[in-house]
Amino acid sequence: MKTVRKMKTLLTVIGARPQWIKASAMSRVLQRAEHGIQEHVVHTGQHVSQEMSGIFFEELGMSAPNTLLEVEFDPARRMGQMMHGIAATIAEIKPDAVLVYGDTDSTLAGAWAASRAGIPLIHMEAGLRSFDRDMPEEINRLLTDQLSAVLLCPSESAVDQLRKEGVYTDCRPGVLVQASGDLMLDTARWIGGQPEPTSGGNKVLLTMHRPSNVDDLDRLKWWVEAIKNCIEKQNIEVIFPVHPRTEQALKKAFGVNWKVQLMDWGIGIRPPAGYVQMMQWLKEVSTVWTDSGGVQKEAYFMHRPALVLRNSTEWTDLVDVGAAMLSPDPAELMERNAQLMARDFTHVFETNLFGDGRAAEHIATALQTWFQK
Ligand code: UDP
Repeated sequence: MKTVRKMKTLLTVIGARPQWIKASAMSRVLQRAEHGIQEHVVHTGQHVSQEMSGIFFEELGMSAPNTLLEVEFDPARRMGQMMHGIAATIAEIKPDAVLVYGDTDSTLAGAWAASRAGIPLIHMEAGLRSFDRDMPEEINRLLTDQLSAVLLCPSESAVDQLRKEGVYTDCRPGVLVQASGDLMLDTARWIGGQPEPTSGGNKVLLTMHRPSNVDDLDRLKWWVEAIKNCIEKQNIEVIFPVHPRTEQALKKAFGVNWKVQLMDWGIGIRPPAGYVQMMQWLKEVSTVWTDSGGVQKEAYFMHRPALVLRNSTEWTDLVDVGAAMLSPDPAELMERNAQLMARDFTHVFETNLFGDGRAAEHIATALQTWFQK
C-alpha cells in the first residue's frame, strides 16, 4: 500500500517592510508544493499602509495573508497584541513549525509565541550581530536565535558567529544551523535587479529611519545640515524616499513646510518607494547613504558602495570587504563620502558574500529534510 505523506504546515510570521522582500522569495518556492510544505501567513499588522505594505504585496506577487492582526502603535501594547494574535493563530492552525524573519518586533513576537506553544521555531537571517545592544533589533536577534530550532544564516560569517556563541553545540544539541544565502538577493534578482555600470554623475540614494538618527530632533537637524553641505560642496544629487517615522520627525524639526524647505536645499524628497522603484534608483545612483540593514545589502547586490549612517552594522562582511563604510557622525559625512569615493572597487563586488540568489530553493530543500526527521 502506498503511504501518502501529510503536508507539513509552516506558520509564517511577517509584519514589516523588509519582511515582504524576504518572505516573498520563500513563498514563491513553497507555493510549487514540491517540498511538501504549505504556508499559513500571519501579518502582524506592524506595517499596514499601502506605501509600507500593500504595494509590496502587489509588486512581489504575494497572496493576501491568511491572518491579519490589528495592533496599536504603542510598541509595548503592540508587542503584547502581536504575541496574543500569533499565539491564537498557532492554537487554531496547529502548525508543524513557526517561521520568522530578521529582527523586527514581529520577529520576536512570533518567536515568543512559538516557544510558549512548544512549536519548533525557524529563524531566517540568524547569526547576525551588530554588537550594539542599544539597538532594539539586536535584542530581537539575540533572543530569537536563542529560541530557534532551525537557524538559517545568510552568510558563512553568521554561522561562525553562532558557533562562537555555542548556539548549536554546547547548549542545544540537535539544532540545525545552515548557511543558505540571502533571500533578499533572490528577490532583487527576481525583479530584475542586476548590477549595471553607473551612468556617471554623482547621485546618492539616501534612506534614514532608525530611532537613533531621527528621534532626537537635534541629531536629525545635524544630518540635514550635513547633507545640505555635501550637496553644495561635493556637487551631488540626493534622492531621499522618506520613511513615515522620519516624516513625523522632520515635521517636528522643520515645521509643516519641511518638504519645501528641504527641497529648497536640494534634497530630493520622495514618498516611501515601492521595491521596483528602489531597484531602479539603485541602478541610477553611484552611492548609497543609509541606516537601513536591507538597503546597505542591496547596494552591494547592485555593486554600489554604501555609507552606513550608524555606529555599527550587523552586516559586518560589507565593511570587511570594503563595500561599505560606517559613517555615524553627521559632522564627518562629507569626509567619509570623499574617502569612500576614493576607494578602488575593482574586485570588491566579486566577493559573493550572500550566496547564489537561490536561497529559497536551498532552504525549502533543507526544511523538507528536517521535517522528515
Ligand atoms: N525599501 C523600499 N522603499 C523605500 C525604502 C526601503 O522598498 O522607500 C526597501 C528596501 O529596498 C529594502 C527594505 O525596504 O528591501 C528595507 O527595509 P527598511 O529599511 O524599512 O528596514 P531595515 O532593512 O532597516 O530593517
